[in-house]
Formats: sequence, C-alpha cells, structure tokens
Amino acid sequence: MGLQEEILSRILSIAFIVAGILIIYWITKRAAIKRAETTNDFYICPKCGSLKVKMVTNLPPAARFIGATGSQNFTCMNCNYEGIAPIVHKEDIEMFRKDLKKK
Ligand SMILES: [Zn+2]
Repeated sequence: MGLQEEILSRILSIAFIVAGILIIYWITKRAAIKRAETTNDFYICPKCGSLKVKMVTNLPPAARFIGATGSQNFTCMNCNYEGIAPIVHKEDIEMFRKDLKKK
C-alpha cells in the first residue's frame, strides 16, 4: 500500500467517525425536540376544567430575587377562578372534567 492510499484511508476513517458523531448528535437533538413537543402535563382549572389557565406570580421582584417561590397563583381565562391549579396528564383531562361534573 502506497503512502497516498494510506493517507486516504486514514482521512476516510476520520470522516466516518465525524459522520457518526454528527448522526448521533442529530438523533439526540431530534429526540429532545420531540420530548419538548409532547409535553403531556397541563395545568387545569379545578373549577371548570379549562386548560386556559394563566400563571400569576404575585410576589414582588425582591422576594423572587432571594429565591422565594411563594404562592403560585393561577387565573382561569374561562371562569375567572383564582388560586392553585393542579397539573393533569393529557390522558386524564377528560376524567378530570367528568369528575368535576359529578360534584
Ligand atoms: Zn375555570
């Protein structure tokens, strides 16, 4: 095997390794994006079962600065409920709403 061929084969093997790393990087990145897209947990209004709840942090910025998480309040855009909102899994939303109607 000549010197040129040896260099060429080395370049090729390096290229394969780099390509392999790039593919792994791409796959993990894709998986991370997919995970972010399929967020299955939602804040739900405990009063009407609406998912249109907005998080309201009614702490002064100074309190947040020192790390106080305090009262995490939610406002429902549908029924104006104010207070804490439970996190419900996507598949449990219907069950949660049915349960609300029973009361
Ligand atoms: Zn509501």
